Amino acid sequence: TTLLLDVQRLGVEYAAENGTVKAVNDVSFTLRRGEILGLAGESGSGKSTLAYAVARLLRPPAAITQGQALYYPRVDLDVARYTQKHKRQQVQEILPEAGMALDVLHASDRQLQYLRWNEIAVVFQSAMNALNPVMTIGDQILDVLHTHRPGMDKQARQARVDELLRLVGISTDRQHSYSHELSGGMRQRAIIAIALALNPELIILDEPTTALDVVVQREILTELLRLRKQLNFAVIFITHDLSLLLEVADSIAIMYAGRIVETGSRRDIYRHPRHPYSYGLLNAFPSLVGPKRKMYSIPGSPPDLRNIPSGCAFRTRCPLAFSTCAQHLPVLLPYQEEEQATVTATVACHLYNPAYREQAPALKEIE
Ligand code: SF4
Ligand code: MG
Repeated sequence: TTLLLDVQRLGVEYAAENGTVKAVNDVSFTLRRGEILGLAGESGSGKSTLAYAVARLLRPPAAITQGQALYYPRVDLDVARYTQKHKRQQVQEILPEAGMALDVLHASDRQLQYLRWNEIAVVFQSAMNALNPVMTIGDQILDVLHTHRPGMDKQARQARVDELLRLVGISTDRQHSYSHELSGGMRQRAIIAIALALNPELIILDEPTTALDVVVQREILTELLRLRKQLNFAVIFITHDLSLLLEVADSIAIMYAGRIVETGSRRDIYRHPRHPYSYGLLNAFPSLVGPKRKMYSIPGSPPDLRNIPSGCAFRTRCPLAFSTCAQHLPVLLPYQEEEQATVTATVACHLYNPAYREQAPALKEIE
């Protein structure tokens, strides 16, 4: 599978009373086509801000301070999709040459306009707010098609609405319903249908199921997996509930105080979370899958992002903190373990850094 998004050293800050909030700090990650990446962390860890930044939806005073987000559009497909010559030329002006990336963080307004919905669709928190209360579900999908596919005729648009509703498991006669007439799960499906309208390559879902009960959450997630298999879009799935990601994500990144502190495959994180924070997150929730784990709650609360502790930001809550933790910032290092098959797993914790092995407490305390 090929690279879709390559985010490097992204930083987001905003000015607040009594200081600068460092909401996202030096974050790098990659996403392949068709991959589901789960971003987990407590609220205030920078997950949503990271997603807003990548979709270029940040509002002032929040600003990107550094980094790049290289996005690889499916140029050939899109150019071919436009039958009118002038439209084709327009798209060619907007997009880089085939196989080349476009830096979303520095994209022009026209490029962004193209990227949104066509390539990147974003579904933000709370299904209720994402839908327009005075428009039927069907009209909302038609609206997206009307705006972004002006060349499509009326019948084709209506056929696409029917197709999308069927795709997400909503019976087509519900297109005349308003959002308040639908259950929470149906509303969520409707939003996914809108997100899928232009067949995007990447869907960003921010806490999409948080307001739903557990049974409906699972239904929606199963649906999402089925659709991904069929349509092969990539997903960035943001949630505070790590156990949900263990059901759907291919890979997982854990955020704390604006930084990614651990990455790995779903299996890596499930079998052996390494960062003490990941360990805490994984065990703070009753597990939906697999064996019951010992419940463990992380003491304290996340730090004030205007005043992040020196060294490791987690040290004020970490049961295994040692002297080095206050002095040095831990960086993400590939985890070295002999039988470890996945080479992509990384962790930012001094316990795993051979340089500090002498001082570090025994790891078995959390294993
Ligand atoms: Fe805990 Fe230190 Fe590791 Fe941070 S670096 S998670 S404080 S052991
Ligand atoms: Mg959030």
